[in-house]
Amino acid sequence: MSKPEIYCPVCAWRPGPDDLWICTRNDCGTEWNTFWTRGVCPGCAYQWRNTQCLRCAEMSPHEAWYHFGDPQESELVEHERETGS
Ligand SMILES: [Zn+2]
Ligand SMILES: [Zn+2]
Repeated sequence: MSKPEIYCPVCAWRPGPDDLWICTRNDCGTEWNTFWTRGVCPGCAYQWRNTQCLRCAEMSPHEAWYHFGDPQESELVEHERETGS
């Protein structure tokens, strides 16, 4: 099973589990890792179409952060979870 590589399309920085984004919509202020939710803020449920790189500060479409190495595996299982709770 191949999972997409997640890294910045501009500078190839890879976000880790400790990297947090802050929702700036309507003073929401929620801090979370945007790749856990595919860009959806857990505080206000707003979906961020663009994700800012915490290293180079460039805004890129959220989808552009996902890099699929194998073209044959382009159909990603939507509910695949890597963190068994
Ligand atoms: Zn970057
Ligand atoms: Zn929010």
